[in-house]
Amino acid sequence: MATTTFPFRIGSGYDVHRLADGLEFWLGGVKVEHAKGAVAHSDGDVIIHALCDALLGAANLRDIGYHFPDDSPEYKGIDSKILLAQTMSMLRKKGYELGNADVVLCLQRPKVKNLIPAMQQCLAKAMQTDIDNISIKATTTETLGFVGREEGVAAYATTLLMKTSCT
Ligand code: MG
Repeated sequence: MATTTFPFRIGSGYDVHRLADGLEFWLGGVKVEHAKGAVAHSDGDVIIHALCDALLGAANLRDIGYHFPDDSPEYKGIDSKILLAQTMSMLRKKGYELGNADVVLCLQRPKVKNLIPAMQQCLAKAMQTDIDNISIKATTTETLGFVGREEGVAAYATTLLMKTSCT
């Protein structure tokens, strides 16, 4: 079978966390002021978790749970930006560089429109890439489903990687 040398790779990621009263709420590396926050072993940042899975998928490096198990004390309460930075170094070791990332956050409340530039800046810094390579979009689900009932938060991410070396 012929091996491919196509220099571009796409990846997709999806993550969900339950929401509960009185917890910290981290999204895209930014702390969101809200009565509820994500129930998680780590800081529960769904945007970063979906992004890590999209990056790992594009590089064919398994998934976030494989590298950072949620039953490991090492990752209890961990800042997800650290996981994102480690993910980027794994894919760079395999000879890839980020082209761009596009994220959809599904959240009924609160509105995060004004926080998106700060999230982009924070993620770009953790990923050592240009802010223009990180797009974040937010949507409600029109009060439908677990997101609409404010029982949870979800995020989808798509990434494009470019092969930069023959590693
Ligand atoms: Mg998660």
